[in-house]
Amino acid sequence: MYNSSKNSGRRIANAIIIPMVVVVTTSVISIFGLMHWSARLSDETAVQSQHKLIAGALQLTKNYLVKLQSGVVIWDEAYHRINGSEPDQGWIYDNVMHWLFQNHGFTKSILIDRDFELVSIYAQNHTSKWMTPDLFDALRPSVAKVRARYITSFKRTPSGLFSYIPKSSDARRSIAETGIVALDGEPFLFSAAAVIPQIQSISRDRFPPSVLVSMVPLRGEKLKDISEMSRLDGFVLASMQNERPGVGRFQLRSPLGADVGIIAWQTTAPGTQMMQRINPFLALAAFMIAAVVIVVTLFTRQMTRRLARSESKAVHAAHHDALSGLPNRSRFHALLTDILDESSENGSNTAVVYIDLDHFKDINDTLGHSAGDKVIVAVAQRLRRVIPETGIVARISGDEFAMVIKDCEDDVWLEYILDQVQDEIGRPIMIGRRELFASLSMGAAVAPRDGNDPDELLRKADIALYDAKANGRNRRSFFEANMEHHVQSKDKMSRELRMALKNDELDLAYQPQSDTSAKRIVSVEALARWTKEDGTVIAPSQFIPVAEETGLINDLGLWVLNKACAKAHEWPGIVVSVNVSPNQFKHPRFVEKVMAILASNNLPPQRLEIEVTESVFAGRNDSVLQALRRLKNLGVKVALDDFGSGYSSLSYLRRFPFDTLKIDRDFVSDMNGNPEAEAILVSIIQLGKALGMTIVAEGIETIEQIRFLQAHDCHRMQGYFISRPLNEAALTQFLEEFNSDGPGTFGTDLTLQARVAKA
Ligand code: C2E
Ligand code: CA
Ligand code: CA
Repeated sequence: MYNSSKNSGRRIANAIIIPMVVVVTTSVISIFGLMHWSARLSDETAVQSQHKLIAGALQLTKNYLVKLQSGVVIWDEAYHRINGSEPDQGWIYDNVMHWLFQNHGFTKSILIDRDFELVSIYAQNHTSKWMTPDLFDALRPSVAKVRARYITSFKRTPSGLFSYIPKSSDARRSIAETGIVALDGEPFLFSAAAVIPQIQSISRDRFPPSVLVSMVPLRGEKLKDISEMSRLDGFVLASMQNERPGVGRFQLRSPLGADVGIIAWQTTAPGTQMMQRINPFLALAAFMIAAVVIVVTLFTRQMTRRLARSESKAVHAAHHDALSGLPNRSRFHALLTDILDESSENGSNTAVVYIDLDHFKDINDTLGHSAGDKVIVAVAQRLRRVIPETGIVARISGDEFAMVIKDCEDDVWLEYILDQVQDEIGRPIMIGRRELFASLSMGAAVAPRDGNDPDELLRKADIALYDAKANGRNRRSFFEANMEHHVQSKDKMSRELRMALKNDELDLAYQPQSDTSAKRIVSVEALARWTKEDGTVIAPSQFIPVAEETGLINDLGLWVLNKACAKAHEWPGIVVSVNVSPNQFKHPRFVEKVMAILASNNLPPQRLEIEVTESVFAGRNDSVLQALRRLKNLGVKVALDDFGSGYSSLSYLRRFPFDTLKIDRDFVSDMNGNPEAEAILVSIIQLGKALGMTIVAEGIETIEQIRFLQAHDCHRMQGYFISRPLNEAALTQFLEEFNSDGPGTFGTDLTLQARVAKA
């Protein structure tokens, strides 16, 4: 059971916790992911704008080169000296190329004439090896562009002459091209500009220009300028291709698109910076969320576990009887249904046994409910111990139990188990220092013989139980078809009993009691009899308990009293004993009613004896004692019935001065040759006498019992041996014969035997 509670707890917990953990984790992960993604994005846009900044700065630098160079290329003297028939190399060296180096740091220059021929090479270190055909090829497109732009700036006028109209408003820029080339793997910025006169006027012809290409290495100061212009730090030139995070790379290309180097710099990554700044907070938040999730998870787990535990406890409580721990009625029904399904499949026999504790009510009434509870617990334990492993024991109600016994292939096995049950229950039960002897009645029905439906089997087992109880306590019955007609439900019986009372279907039988000598009948016990219209006889052991349960006993009891008192007149001198049930004493005006009955029947109280059992003392009994005392004071005799069958018999003898003590018939029937039973019987007789009571022995069935009781001077004797209960007429006749007979002793007096037989 606890496993299943654990499982269901886990199921509930998982149903709540797993989705919660999934939702929380995915949202945390996606929030973090989103933040990182947007940080990346902002880093990327930052790098892009840094690229634009570098490109801009580079362009500005190139424009500046053009400006610096323009000082020598837009110059009439230079124009003429360069484009003269024989270029003046010395002058060009001093005033153009070297001047550009000295004043503006152009470390290298070349001059290309109108025919696209290289006419002059300058390097600050006086070498010319650097000027390779490859380099020339790299510069060629820029030079060509300059030449073309210059030529196409000459527009033919209507007079046939050419007029110079620069393409751009900035004259300097319209004649220049800039770019980057690699020299020995090192990038150089260059500016290529047409050498033109200061004042361009109208001319007759148009010629391609000479072009001066001036170069400055892209390093040191220049690089620093670009870095400052673009507001980016730590520019380095890199040729290697390896990329690294946090390092920006700006690709430098020659006019022909060749790779001439890379500007590398430390990129500013605002997203990453932001992330770095908020990362600790994010970590803290994540930690806190995780902590909350864990706490909530643990809490939920604990709550659901507690919930599941209390649920399974509730389920257990709903299915089990709290006192005995056995399954209860509804659970029993469910288990029985399952077992019957199973057994009808595999064709085995299943027995259902109903069990009723005998006289449990007396235990409760006389010893209190806690003793009753202990008896129930003890019985439950013993039943569980005795029945086979596969069987089931359940507590159906107060003192009712039920069992299922599987695989009862024959009744012998079932009988054997029921024997075991009876033996086990027969052992004394210790309540404190007191030994109690319990017994039980059982009724069994067997599937499939008596049916396969659980309700039908239970009903039949109940009928069998009724049958067992009707035959006296500590018995058992197996269901038989004819029982169904005899045994009736309590409901039906109480309805019919009510009708029977009204319709005068009840009657009284009278059982004579003789004196010690067994020669005279001194009293008779009135016993209720019920014969239904159809002739069925219902035993008092069946209908008296029903009458007590339904409260009908009050009317029934008064009817019996009235009838017995009325008939008493027919048997002068005979005392009439009437059984009065404890419930009748609960009626507040019971004594008055008895008095009224005596008065109306004109019967002296001394002729009436009432028999009570010790259960009248149960509970708060002051009023009962008072009523008994009042009856006794009136002169009515009071007898303690079934003495010895209960549990506290001796103490009751002290509490009320009974006139008569009726020894329970079990003692008498146990007597036969059993020295212990005889000793008990003798001591009860002596005790009663010592207390000044009249002793009556019940249930005498043999001559030996009579002889024994006579030997011990028992005052009165009652039993089948003297006479069975008789109807009015039979009693009248019996009394006439018996009481008028001369002296005779049992055993020799055949006429008495004959009479007994006749009755
Ligand atoms: P009880 O008061 O102990 O009555 C004696 C019972 O023992 C009677 O059973 C009687 O027939 C039976 N009996 C007498 N002699 C012998 C014998 O030699 N051997 C055996 N085996 N039995 C013997 P009955 O008439 O069936 O009554 C059963 C019980 O029903 C009574 O037990 C009494 O407790 C109750 N009862 C009967 N009539 C009334 C009544 O009018 N009012 C109340 N409250 N209870 C009644
Ligand atoms: Ca009695
Ligand atoms: Ca009795």
